[in-house]
Amino acid sequence: MSVPIPDLRVRALNSHAIRSESDYVLYWMVANRRLRWNFSLDRAVHWAKELKKPLLILEALRTDYRWASDRLHRFVIEGMCDNASARLPAGVRYYPYVEPKQGAGRGLVAALARRAAVIVSDDFPCFFLPRMLEAAARRANVRFEAVDSNGLLPLRATDRVFTLAHSFRRFLQKELLPHLRQSPRAEPLAGLKLPKHSALPDDIEQRWPAATPAGLQLPESLYGSLEIDHQVRPASMKGGSEAADRRLQAFVEGKLKRYADDRNQPEQDVPSGLSPYLHFGHISAHEIWDRLTRHEKWTESCVAEKPSGSAEGWWGMSGPAEGFADQLLTWRELGYNMCWQQEYDTYESLPDWARVTMEEHEGDKRPYLYSIEEFERAETHDPLWNAAQRQLVREGLIHNYLRMLWGKKIYEWSANGRDALETMIHLNNKYAVDGRNPNSYSGIGWVLGRYDRAWGPERKIFGKLRYMTSENTAKKVRVKRYLETYSAAGPPGLTRVACDGGPNRSIHSFGAKLARTER
Ligand SMILES: Cc1cc2nc3c(=O)[nH]c(=O)nc-3n(C[C@H](O)[C@H](O)[C@H](O)COP(=O)(O)OP(=O)(O)OC[C@H]3O[C@@H](n4cnc5c(N)ncnc54)[C@H](O)[C@@H]3O)c2cc1C
Repeated sequence: MSVPIPDLRVRALNSHAIRSESDYVLYWMVANRRLRWNFSLDRAVHWAKELKKPLLILEALRTDYRWASDRLHRFVIEGMCDNASARLPAGVRYYPYVEPKQGAGRGLVAALARRAAVIVSDDFPCFFLPRMLEAAARRANVRFEAVDSNGLLPLRATDRVFTLAHSFRRFLQKELLPHLRQSPRAEPLAGLKLPKHSALPDDIEQRWPAATPAGLQLPESLYGSLEIDHQVRPASMKGGSEAADRRLQAFVEGKLKRYADDRNQPEQDVPSGLSPYLHFGHISAHEIWDRLTRHEKWTESCVAEKPSGSAEGWWGMSGPAEGFADQLLTWRELGYNMCWQQEYDTYESLPDWARVTMEEHEGDKRPYLYSIEEFERAETHDPLWNAAQRQLVREGLIHNYLRMLWGKKIYEWSANGRDALETMIHLNNKYAVDGRNPNSYSGIGWVLGRYDRAWGPERKIFGKLRYMTSENTAKKVRVKRYLETYSAAGPPGLTRVACDGGPNRSIHSFGAKLARTER
């Protein structure tokens, strides 16, 4: 019997009917790039069983999206390599396609759609994906469904946009439990018996050849000559579900117990490091939750009786596990709650009070003002900020606590909030492996007042925005070793990453105009 997929998680993107006489069910994997714990795959399996059709899983990687780079390509291809090496039951075919040049992949989904009985894809609320799916669904002549496997709360469980973490947490405390009972299957393909695939027509296989296992094992052979940003070198973290799984295990069985005390210490490497894997769908929030709750021997009977909106004491887990659950649930899903319902990347989408206070202080004399290029090259007067920026450029991440400082200083050293927003979005999305995600926009928005309140006393430049300084940060958390590791010279043996702005530089020429440092 197939597992029911919660209705709230399924959206028909067109009104076409299922074509039961067609060749297969098509699952077009665009965001949940994994074969486990995935409601979209569950849905595709459901249709394949119901219609007695084989299942074709297409995972494609295009070249023409903003910020495409060696770093992002490699991470995604490593994920494809894991998927390609999974043992699949008869009747399930995995079709990995890496566009060999810009535009070459055009037409592939439409060609596969013509032979599909129904198409299932991933409902991701951000970046170019919603537009891409809508366009494909308009062109397809068959039912096209988008399935939400983003988080533990279905996106459409509420149409309220939450403006504070506290009110969202309270909502979760009241409403989440029934949704937790509806989990995707850990191994949706296990034991599956479907009719065998007949071969795809030659014109499809020849025009859009599937990447071979050997090619996927040498990612550079697939992206080395593409028109993407080669200055942004691959990060040292390996992509894919297997690496994600190892990281999750190491975290839950090792670092978790220190999460409450040491999460904010940049030198300690205590956080899970799962955000890039969550972003590319190499791991699911459901699997993380399952592992966490099993480790904590948690059951529903552990939760407190009355929702309080407080981050502590609700779940009835150990302190570190509650702290982690709050990040994974409240903070992560808060961003997703916003992204599917409203603009998330524009200055106008920030709270009124924050825009008013930034505009009231736009004329304040700024002791330092940097261009996008100076920020990018870590050429500010502030060693801690420069170290954080170098970590981002070299490794594709910044420690969370320093990420907040990184953003606050970009605001302080930019002419206004609008420019700061653009600079943060560009640098974060270009270099961070977990960038281009709802949490990118909620984190950057937080720097400029989103999910926060007005703070007093009112200060120069910041007005009522929450204020952070490198001096206070260096007093609160240990950074000596961090500063050494991310010094301009870098640790011995480090391959330096050039950062001249790459192909995206021209869009940020605004920075050059306003930038002059009064040093
Ligand atoms: C300026 C700025 C930019 C940011 N850009 C991104 C981004 O591009 N992508 C991204 O995923 N996060 C972003 N964040 C949020 C946060 O910094 C990262 O999610 C976190 O550092 C990821 O590390 P981790 O996986 O080790 O987190 P852990 O501490 O292990 O937490 C587990 C998971 O909870 C979620 N989480 C943790 N902290 C936050 C947070 N503050 N907000 C939202 N979700 C959170 C993430 O999904 C994370 O993987 C940004 C924050 C700021 C201030």
